[in-house]
Amino acid sequence: TVRWGLIGASTIARQFVINAIRAQPNSEITAVMSSSPERAAAYAKENGIALAVSTLDALLGSGIDAVYISTTNELHLEQALAAITAGKHVLCEKPLALTSADARKMVAAAKAAGLVLGTNHHLRNAGSHRAMREAIAAGRIGKPIAARVFHSVYLPENLQGWRITRPEAGGGVVLDITVHDADTLRFVLGDDPLEVSAFTQAAGMASGGLEDGAMCIWRFKSGIIAQSHEGFTTKFAGTGFEVHGSEGSLIAKDVMTQKPIGSVLLRTAKGEEELSFDREDLYVRSLRQFHAAIGGEGQPSATGEDGVWSLTSAEAALQSAKSGKSVAIDPTL
Ligand code: NDP
Repeated sequence: TVRWGLIGASTIARQFVINAIRAQPNSEITAVMSSSPERAAAYAKENGIALAVSTLDALLGSGIDAVYISTTNELHLEQALAAITAGKHVLCEKPLALTSADARKMVAAAKAAGLVLGTNHHLRNAGSHRAMREAIAAGRIGKPIAARVFHSVYLPENLQGWRITRPEAGGGVVLDITVHDADTLRFVLGDDPLEVSAFTQAAGMASGGLEDGAMCIWRFKSGIIAQSHEGFTTKFAGTGFEVHGSEGSLIAKDVMTQKPIGSVLLRTAKGEEELSFDREDLYVRSLRQFHAAIGGEGQPSATGEDGVWSLTSAEAALQSAKSGKSVAIDPTL
């Protein structure tokens, strides 16, 4: 049995990850930690978790094997390093840390300790994105030329907190959504970005110097160019992911989401074909891969190194927006 401790009484754990852990055979959630004892107790009760604690030491000493970290972003580094020192496997939310240098420290610590570190980039687990990746790898669009990612949403009212007000907590749409887009582009294209050029905006929701919208242009090693749009302020935009190649285009709609929904269309000289794909819960699949990795089989669907890549990419986008110049992406892994 893998016994889990939750670090952070968060929305994402309540909405998706607690269920995903419990969907695995031989797994249980032993304890939850919140910085507030009252919130820990209320969260434990609401979610049927036996033990509520308010310090990291108490959580790490509660007989657990793995932790899921879903606190605000400035806390991930210290909590992950403490968990690794205590010999626990770590599934950490994105961004892994506030800087890629800190994220590299987490990867190095887990490697030295022989522990599994995963980044919860859920979109890699979507059947839609896996179908696109497979179609590209199978040559169904010929040589990939360009990609477009549409990932500008409206941040739900219950999440209009630290993301739009607290730079010190790692707020802003780039650390929130651009990291996912950078990771999903790498995954679907099977390629790594070399440089990015970005504009950001504050379109009325974010304060404190944070951005609530971003447009990025990426150049990949193979020569593919890509554009991505991330936002918190567009109520009616819809999401999508397109890859255009010499022999065909993949046009996916409603796929930049937490749910196993959406559609993927392949358009070639032969006509149009809707690709079928599996509709498994993204987080359940993520946790299954993580459990397998703990058991010595394969890797988490997004590794710590993948988390370094996505954070390095987001960091470069922020630097580009600030400097007005394109910025090289080098995760130095
Ligand atoms: P929340 O705002 O729900 O939770 C983050 C922290 O805020 C909690 O750990 C909690 O601290 C504190 N908090 C929560 N509710 C309250 C409250 N009512 N009053 C005071 N403090 C409160 O964050 P999210 O779940 O949206 O995000 C958490 C992490 O997960 C982030 O790193 C984010 O980037 C990531 N994320 C990833 C997603 C994915 O699909 N991969 C989706 C959404 C988020 P404490 O634990 O001390 O109680």
